[in-house]
Amino acid sequence: MNAAPADQIRLLDLQAIDSKLDQLAHRRRSLPEHAEIDKATADHTALKDLVIAAQAQQGDTTRELTKAEQDVEQVRSRSARNQQRLDSGAITSPKDLENLQHEIGSLAKRQGDLEEVVLEIMERLESAETRVTELTARLEHSTVVLTEAEARRDAAFAEIDAEVEKVRRERETVVAVVPADLLKLYTRLREQQGGVGAARLFQRRCEGCRVEFAVSDLNAIKAEPKDAVVRCDNCGRILVRTAESGI
Ligand SMILES: [Zn+2]
Repeated sequence: MNAAPADQIRLLDLQAIDSKLDQLAHRRRSLPEHAEIDKATADHTALKDLVIAAQAQQGDTTRELTKAEQDVEQVRSRSARNQQRLDSGAITSPKDLENLQHEIGSLAKRQGDLEEVVLEIMERLESAETRVTELTARLEHSTVVLTEAEARRDAAFAEIDAEVEKVRRERETVVAVVPADLLKLYTRLREQQGGVGAARLFQRRCEGCRVEFAVSDLNAIKAEPKDAVVRCDNCGRILVRTAESGI
Protein backbone atom coordinates (compact mmCIF):
# COMPACT_ATOMS: atom_id res chain seq x y z
CA MET A 1 0.00 0.00 0.00
CA ASN A 2 1.13 3.51 -0.74
CA ALA A 3 0.22 6.80 0.89
CA ALA A 4 1.78 10.25 0.73
CA PRO A 5 4.14 10.92 3.68
CA ALA A 6 1.88 13.82 4.75
CA ASP A 7 -1.13 11.47 4.88
CA GLN A 8 0.90 8.98 6.92
CA ILE A 9 1.74 11.76 9.38
CA ARG A 10 -1.97 12.67 9.54
CA LEU A 11 -2.54 9.07 10.56
CA LEU A 12 -0.39 9.77 13.62
CA ASP A 13 -2.63 12.75 14.39
CA LEU A 14 -5.63 10.46 14.05
CA GLN A 15 -3.98 7.89 16.32
CA ALA A 16 -3.36 10.58 18.95
CA ILE A 17 -7.00 11.65 18.72
CA ASP A 18 -8.28 8.06 18.96
CA SER A 19 -6.00 7.36 21.93
CA LYS A 20 -7.33 10.50 23.57
CA LEU A 21 -10.92 9.31 22.96
CA ASP A 22 -10.04 5.89 24.41
CA GLN A 23 -8.56 7.56 27.50
CA LEU A 24 -11.66 9.70 27.93
CA ALA A 25 -13.91 6.64 27.61
CA HIS A 26 -11.74 4.81 30.13
CA ARG A 27 -11.88 7.79 32.50
CA ARG A 28 -15.66 7.89 32.15
CA ARG A 29 -15.92 4.17 32.99
CA SER A 30 -13.50 4.20 35.89
CA LEU A 31 -14.58 7.30 37.80
CA PRO A 32 -14.23 6.63 41.55
CA GLU A 33 -17.83 7.87 41.86
CA HIS A 34 -19.12 4.65 40.23
CA ALA A 35 -17.93 2.54 43.19
CA GLU A 36 -19.11 5.22 45.63
CA ILE A 37 -22.57 5.25 44.04
CA ASP A 38 -22.78 1.44 44.07
CA LYS A 39 -21.90 1.38 47.76
CA ALA A 40 -24.19 4.30 48.63
CA THR A 41 -27.05 2.66 46.71
CA ALA A 42 -26.54 -0.63 48.57
CA ASP A 43 -26.37 1.23 51.92
CA HIS A 44 -29.46 3.22 51.05
CA THR A 45 -31.45 0.10 50.08
CA ALA A 46 -30.36 -1.77 53.22
CA LEU A 47 -31.23 1.21 55.44
CA LYS A 48 -34.61 1.63 53.79
CA ASP A 49 -35.40 -2.02 54.62
CA LEU A 50 -34.21 -1.49 58.21
CA VAL A 51 -36.37 1.63 58.59
CA ILE A 52 -39.42 -0.24 57.29
CA ALA A 53 -38.77 -3.13 59.72
CA ALA A 54 -38.21 -0.71 62.63
CA GLN A 55 -41.41 1.19 61.81
CA ALA A 56 -43.33 -2.11 61.71
CA GLN A 57 -41.85 -2.98 65.10
CA GLN A 58 -42.87 0.43 66.43
CA GLY A 59 -46.42 -0.04 65.09
CA ASP A 60 -46.73 -3.51 66.64
CA THR A 61 -45.45 -2.25 69.98
CA THR A 62 -47.82 0.74 69.89
CA ARG A 63 -50.78 -1.59 69.34
CA GLU A 64 -49.48 -3.87 72.10
CA LEU A 65 -49.36 -0.86 74.44
CA THR A 66 -52.89 0.25 73.57
CA LYS A 67 -54.13 -3.25 74.30
CA ALA A 68 -52.24 -3.43 77.63
CA GLU A 69 -53.54 0.02 78.65
CA GLN A 70 -57.09 -1.13 77.85
CA ASP A 71 -56.52 -4.18 80.07
CA VAL A 72 -55.42 -1.91 82.92
CA GLU A 73 -58.40 0.37 82.34
CA GLN A 74 -60.82 -2.55 82.45
CA VAL A 75 -59.44 -3.78 85.76
CA ARG A 76 -59.36 -0.24 87.15
CA SER A 77 -63.02 0.47 86.29
CA ARG A 78 -64.13 -2.89 87.60
CA SER A 79 -62.26 -2.17 90.81
CA ALA A 80 -63.82 1.30 91.01
CA ARG A 81 -67.31 -0.17 90.57
CA ASN A 82 -66.62 -2.65 93.38
CA GLN A 83 -65.31 0.12 95.58
CA GLN A 84 -68.49 2.14 94.92
CA ARG A 85 -70.64 -0.81 95.83
CA LEU A 86 -68.62 -1.25 98.99
CA ASP A 87 -68.82 2.43 99.90
CA SER A 88 -72.56 2.61 99.13
CA GLY A 89 -73.31 0.44 102.12
CA ALA A 90 -75.84 -1.50 100.02
CA ILE A 91 -74.09 -4.74 100.73
CA THR A 92 -74.68 -5.89 104.23
CA SER A 93 -74.09 -9.62 104.14
CA PRO A 94 -70.70 -10.27 105.80
CA LYS A 95 -70.00 -13.03 103.30
CA ASP A 96 -70.77 -10.77 100.33
CA LEU A 97 -68.67 -8.03 101.88
CA GLU A 98 -65.79 -10.42 102.36
CA ASN A 99 -66.09 -11.66 98.78
CA LEU A 100 -66.19 -8.11 97.48
CA GLN A 101 -63.17 -7.06 99.52
CA HIS A 102 -61.36 -10.15 98.37
CA GLU A 103 -62.14 -9.30 94.75
CA ILE A 104 -61.01 -5.70 95.23
CA GLY A 105 -57.72 -7.06 96.61
CA SER A 106 -57.29 -9.45 93.67
CA LEU A 107 -58.07 -6.70 91.20
CA ALA A 108 -55.51 -4.38 92.82
CA LYS A 109 -52.89 -7.10 92.45
CA ARG A 110 -53.99 -7.76 88.87
CA GLN A 111 -53.88 -4.02 88.09
CA GLY A 112 -50.34 -3.83 89.52
CA ASP A 113 -49.23 -6.72 87.32
CA LEU A 114 -50.83 -5.20 84.24
CA GLU A 115 -49.24 -1.81 84.95
CA GLU A 116 -45.86 -3.58 85.09
CA VAL A 117 -46.62 -4.98 81.66
CA VAL A 118 -47.55 -1.49 80.41
CA LEU A 119 -44.23 -0.09 81.70
CA GLU A 120 -42.28 -2.91 80.08
CA ILE A 121 -44.05 -2.27 76.74
CA MET A 122 -43.45 1.49 77.07
CA GLU A 123 -39.73 0.82 77.46
CA ARG A 124 -39.74 -1.36 74.36
CA LEU A 125 -41.73 1.27 72.49
CA GLU A 126 -39.20 3.91 73.47
CA SER A 127 -36.37 1.71 72.14
CA ALA A 128 -38.33 1.09 68.94
CA GLU A 129 -38.91 4.84 68.50
CA THR A 130 -35.22 5.57 69.12
CA ARG A 131 -34.29 2.96 66.55
CA VAL A 132 -36.68 4.45 63.97
CA THR A 133 -35.26 7.93 64.63
CA GLU A 134 -31.65 6.74 64.35
CA LEU A 135 -32.25 4.68 61.24
CA THR A 136 -34.24 7.48 59.61
CA ALA A 137 -31.35 9.88 60.24
CA ARG A 138 -28.92 7.36 58.75
CA LEU A 139 -31.23 6.86 55.77
CA GLU A 140 -31.39 10.62 55.20
CA HIS A 141 -27.60 10.80 55.44
CA SER A 142 -27.23 7.97 52.93
CA THR A 143 -29.56 9.84 50.56
CA VAL A 144 -27.30 12.89 50.83
CA VAL A 145 -24.18 10.76 50.25
CA LEU A 146 -25.80 9.13 47.21
CA THR A 147 -27.09 12.40 45.76
CA GLU A 148 -23.70 14.07 46.21
CA ALA A 149 -21.84 11.18 44.58
CA GLU A 150 -24.30 11.20 41.66
CA ALA A 151 -23.89 14.96 41.28
CA ARG A 152 -20.08 14.59 41.23
CA ARG A 153 -20.35 11.77 38.69
CA ASP A 154 -22.69 13.82 36.49
CA ALA A 155 -20.35 16.82 36.67
CA ALA A 156 -17.43 14.59 35.68
CA PHE A 157 -19.53 13.08 32.87
CA ALA A 158 -20.43 16.55 31.58
CA GLU A 159 -16.78 17.60 31.60
CA ILE A 160 -15.62 14.39 29.86
CA ASP A 161 -18.47 14.47 27.34
CA ALA A 162 -17.70 18.07 26.41
CA GLU A 163 -14.06 17.07 25.87
CA VAL A 164 -15.15 14.02 23.83
CA GLU A 165 -17.35 16.24 21.68
CA LYS A 166 -14.44 18.60 21.02
CA VAL A 167 -12.03 15.76 20.19
CA ARG A 168 -14.62 14.10 17.93
CA ARG A 169 -14.91 17.29 15.91
CA GLU A 170 -11.11 17.34 15.54
CA ARG A 171 -11.29 13.69 14.46
CA GLU A 172 -13.82 14.47 11.74
CA THR A 173 -11.48 17.10 10.30
CA VAL A 174 -8.49 14.74 10.30
CA VAL A 175 -10.33 11.63 9.13
CA ALA A 176 -11.74 13.54 6.15
CA VAL A 177 -8.26 13.91 4.64
CA VAL A 178 -6.86 10.40 5.32
CA PRO A 179 -7.07 8.16 2.23
CA ALA A 180 -9.79 5.53 2.53
CA ASP A 181 -7.58 2.43 2.13
CA LEU A 182 -5.06 3.72 4.68
CA LEU A 183 -7.89 4.51 7.11
CA LYS A 184 -9.32 1.02 6.63
CA LEU A 185 -5.98 -0.65 7.36
CA TYR A 186 -5.43 1.62 10.36
CA THR A 187 -8.91 0.86 11.73
CA ARG A 188 -8.39 -2.88 11.38
CA LEU A 189 -4.97 -2.79 13.03
CA ARG A 190 -6.25 -0.54 15.80
CA GLU A 191 -8.93 -3.10 16.63
CA GLN A 192 -6.43 -5.95 16.59
CA GLN A 193 -3.65 -4.15 18.45
CA GLY A 194 -5.32 -2.80 21.56
CA GLY A 195 -6.25 0.59 20.18
CA VAL A 196 -3.00 1.48 18.42
CA GLY A 197 -2.97 0.97 14.65
CA ALA A 198 -0.26 3.43 13.64
CA ALA A 199 2.98 4.16 15.44
CA ARG A 200 5.82 6.54 14.86
CA LEU A 201 9.27 5.26 14.06
CA PHE A 202 11.13 7.31 16.63
CA GLN A 203 14.84 7.07 17.34
CA ARG A 204 15.00 3.63 15.78
CA ARG A 205 12.11 2.26 17.80
CA CYS A 206 8.55 1.33 16.91
CA GLU A 207 6.55 3.44 19.32
CA GLY A 208 3.76 0.87 19.12
CA CYS A 209 5.65 -2.10 20.57
CA ARG A 210 8.86 -0.31 21.69
CA VAL A 211 11.07 -2.74 19.80
CA GLU A 212 14.39 -1.25 18.70
CA PHE A 213 15.30 -2.06 15.13
CA ALA A 214 18.63 -3.48 14.11
CA VAL A 215 20.65 -1.40 11.66
CA SER A 216 19.86 -3.86 8.87
CA ASP A 217 16.10 -3.47 9.50
CA LEU A 218 16.46 0.30 9.58
CA ASN A 219 18.32 0.21 6.29
CA ALA A 220 15.54 -1.90 4.80
CA ILE A 221 12.97 0.64 6.00
CA LYS A 222 15.10 3.46 4.69
CA ALA A 223 15.23 1.77 1.29
CA GLU A 224 11.44 1.79 1.03
CA PRO A 225 10.00 4.61 -1.09
CA LYS A 226 8.75 7.59 0.93
CA ASP A 227 5.15 6.84 0.01
CA ALA A 228 5.31 3.16 0.90
CA VAL A 229 3.20 2.22 3.92
CA VAL A 230 5.71 0.39 6.12
CA ARG A 231 4.61 -2.09 8.79
CA CYS A 232 6.49 -2.99 11.97
CA ASP A 233 7.93 -6.50 11.63
CA ASN A 234 7.36 -7.09 15.29
CA CYS A 235 3.80 -5.86 15.94
CA GLY A 236 2.42 -5.36 12.44
CA ARG A 237 1.36 -1.77 13.05
CA ILE A 238 1.73 0.93 10.41
CA LEU A 239 5.13 2.41 11.03
CA VAL A 240 5.22 6.11 10.17
CA ARG A 241 8.54 7.66 9.31
CA THR A 242 9.12 11.23 10.45
CA ALA A 243 12.11 13.59 10.63
CA GLU A 244 12.98 12.16 14.06
CA SER A 245 12.93 8.57 12.95
CA GLY A 246 16.69 8.21 13.13
CA ILE A 247 17.06 6.94 9.59
ZN1 LIG B 1 6.02 -2.46 16.55
